[in-house]
Amino acid sequence: MQDTYNLIIVGAGMAGLCAAAEAAAQGASVLVLEKEKDFGGSSLLSGRYMAFAGTDLQKQEGIDDKSEFLVEDMLAVGEGKNEIELVEAYGEHQFETYEWLVSTGVQFHKVQAVSGHSVPRGHTITPQQAITALYEAAAASGTVEFRTGAVVKRLRKDENERVSQVVFEHAGKTKTASAENAVLLTSGGFSKSEELLENFAPQLTGAIRIGGKGNVGDGIKLASEQGAWLRDFPYLKGTYGFHPTADGPRKSQALAFYKGAIIINKFAERFVNESISYKLIGTEALLQPERITYQIWDQPIMDQGVPGDALYDFEKLLALGLIEKAETLEELAEIIQVPAEKLKTTVKEYNRDIQNGGDQKYGRTTLTHHFGTPTPIHNAPFYAMRTTVAMLATYAGVSVDKSARVLNAFNEPIEGLYAAGEIAGGFHGAGYMTGSSLGKAAIFGRIAVQAALKKQAVL
Ligand SMILES: Cc1cc2nc3c(=O)[nH]c(=O)nc-3n(C[C@H](O)[C@H](O)[C@H](O)COP(=O)(O)OP(=O)(O)OC[C@H]3O[C@@H](n4cnc5c(N)ncnc54)[C@H](O)[C@@H]3O)c2cc1C
Repeated sequence: MQDTYNLIIVGAGMAGLCAAAEAAAQGASVLVLEKEKDFGGSSLLSGRYMAFAGTDLQKQEGIDDKSEFLVEDMLAVGEGKNEIELVEAYGEHQFETYEWLVSTGVQFHKVQAVSGHSVPRGHTITPQQAITALYEAAAASGTVEFRTGAVVKRLRKDENERVSQVVFEHAGKTKTASAENAVLLTSGGFSKSEELLENFAPQLTGAIRIGGKGNVGDGIKLASEQGAWLRDFPYLKGTYGFHPTADGPRKSQALAFYKGAIIINKFAERFVNESISYKLIGTEALLQPERITYQIWDQPIMDQGVPGDALYDFEKLLALGLIEKAETLEELAEIIQVPAEKLKTTVKEYNRDIQNGGDQKYGRTTLTHHFGTPTPIHNAPFYAMRTTVAMLATYAGVSVDKSARVLNAFNEPIEGLYAAGEIAGGFHGAGYMTGSSLGKAAIFGRIAVQAALKKQAVL
């Protein structure tokens, strides 16, 4: 093993592997250090949607879309708190990155309507297939060395104040490697760190924790030591839609509310507009009595399930006993132990309102964001799923510019240090748009490498 490389990449999920494959294509020498014994991090567990616009898959479905619309949606979901140059860089590079992923061997299956988008834009991947294809593309070059079980512990600056050395533990030894061009942090977020969640997101007490085992915020600490500024921490939110058992081996999730289900609390009362971001729904759900909530729907909504899909495979969850089914709302209420009369009234009022042009209580007029029309819940059988909030990705992190250079508190780049993927803050602002996290990991993983190899900002 040599000890000097063009690039050292810390973490091998979507961002790290896209960076490694991009660097390999440019003939750079690269060391990739991955803490766990397998690659993939949270990317491997993901719901598999990537947000791209104007693609062949959308055209096949007759969906008219372009980068500008995606950027508009992202700024709307982020409530304008996102760093506009980062969102615009996503818009500028998203289509090219989609085509690059396809040419690198990543398979996209179909497009789904997902949270925060005004048109169906969730391009589905099979995470394991994508991770393997990217790894193989990087490994084939012969210029990329991979180390698993290699935990990066500290970064060091050289005499020119440039971050250039990485100290890591591997096979029981402490080792040091040097980077001529850059150190790129792609070490993910901290959804598995009780320490950081307690410090930065006490409002998420009670949310279940899901994410890559190694995602405990190491990269954020490493960058902080070098002077990195932090962004978006006040906006940390959980994700609504998980069964309470989802922190086990099976990540059971159903978003029947985006197909038209209503969401109720233990008093059988609705408490939110079900079409808004599942992050914002999550914030409301954590405020409900005993944090108990249920999605309630009927057979026509059930029929819109998508077999094999991570978010919409309702039949599978029913077969697993995670969804309850009953011929009447009274029976359903009894099974899930909510007041039956109240459930009937809640459903009746909701049905009446949406048939009269709009939900009077919480303003629901669509299925998700600007897309789709809600239907009344009145065709038996009826279904219910107990649903909770999960902390699965921390969309806050180190401050970066549009070239993925890590910035200090004065907005100046820290020489030699780049970050991409979930570790980077400033991109999502106040809200996360589905598919934009895997999307930004791929897009900015590549941008970081392009900028680092040129040793200048990508303009
Ligand atoms: C259940 C679930 C569903 C999701 N669904 C979606 C979705 O549909 N669409 C979407 O866009 N996003 C989704 N997300 C979020 C998304 O998966 C992540 O934000 C994204 O995969 C992060 O990619 P990454 O490459 O930045 O980090 P990761 O894929 O997490 O990779 C980071 C890697 O760095 C390693 N690492 C950490 N510390 C060190 C260290 N000190 N030394 C060496 N290595 C280290 C980790 O072990 C890990 O392998 C979901 C997340 C979860 C958990």
